[in-house]
Amino acid sequence: MNVDLHCHSTASDGLLRPEELVARAAANGVEMLALTDHDDLSGLARARAEAQSRGMRFIDGVEVSVTWKGSTVHIVGLRIDPQHPALKSGLESIRQGRARRAERIGDALASAGVPDSLEGAKAYAENPSLISRSHFARHLVKAGRAPDVRSVFHHYLVKGKPGFVHHEWASLQDAVSWIGASGGIAVIAHPGRYKFSKSEMHEFVSQFRDCGGGGIEVVTGSHSPEQYVEFAQLSRQFGLLASRGSDYHGKGESRADLGELPHLSDSLRPVWHDW
Ligand code: AMP
Ligand code: MN
Ligand code: MN
Ligand code: MN
Repeated sequence: MNVDLHCHSTASDGLLRPEELVARAAANGVEMLALTDHDDLSGLARARAEAQSRGMRFIDGVEVSVTWKGSTVHIVGLRIDPQHPALKSGLESIRQGRARRAERIGDALASAGVPDSLEGAKAYAENPSLISRSHFARHLVKAGRAPDVRSVFHHYLVKGKPGFVHHEWASLQDAVSWIGASGGIAVIAHPGRYKFSKSEMHEFVSQFRDCGGGGIEVVTGSHSPEQYVEFAQLSRQFGLLASRGSDYHGKGESRADLGELPHLSDSLRPVWHDW
């Protein structure tokens, strides 16, 4: 079965509306899709309705921004209940923090000689309560500051660059608890992206499991083939269920298209094994 459990719509920083995203997934042969917008659930109902009309299985998801020991990590929640009060209010508090962070990014860029970037970013954000660095990046490309989004990140938006501001997201315990309380399973997103030593990675995965986390992305658009092997091993070692997701954001902004990834190894237990 072609399963894709990680992607983004215009409810966060994706380029396609929820309906368009589902249509593209269908055209690519995806049979089970989760929409996992950053810190926001507002695209789920529309995506679900479109998936149902196409006979595609749809999973309610979210990608929660977390700060663990000073580093930003992402925790995907799958089969969450979008109406659950603790999850909804937790995400609402993250979005309020995001809005304050966006102001600080705008100020930092202005100090570096790049004026009016918050207004520019807002023009790219279809969901006004969800401003991400991707929206700043698209604006800066349009303003001629760099040739593409990747290069804007490199020159302006990552640690050590003028538009980077530190931000404290949710705690790991809170994120995993909200997901679990709403009936979902928490999954570590793209672990290969984190700049952890081997022992830090083990400590992170252990704490995640102790908090009630249940899965880890093994095959994602963010991983190299060597990392598929590395994180398959970690998944078995820690007894975590394995997930597969493109992390598709839109044309020109993603390494993998919807559903277009290698399958999980037969030696792994997929997160969807009993769905
Ligand atoms: P934020 O949650 O606002 O910090 O934005 C993070 C998002 O920016 C990620 O989910 C990606 O979509 C995007 N992103 C992060 N790093 C890069 C990068 N180096 N190049 C392109 N996009 C990136
Ligand atoms: Mn993103
Ligand atoms: Mn992510
Ligand atoms: Mn993502």
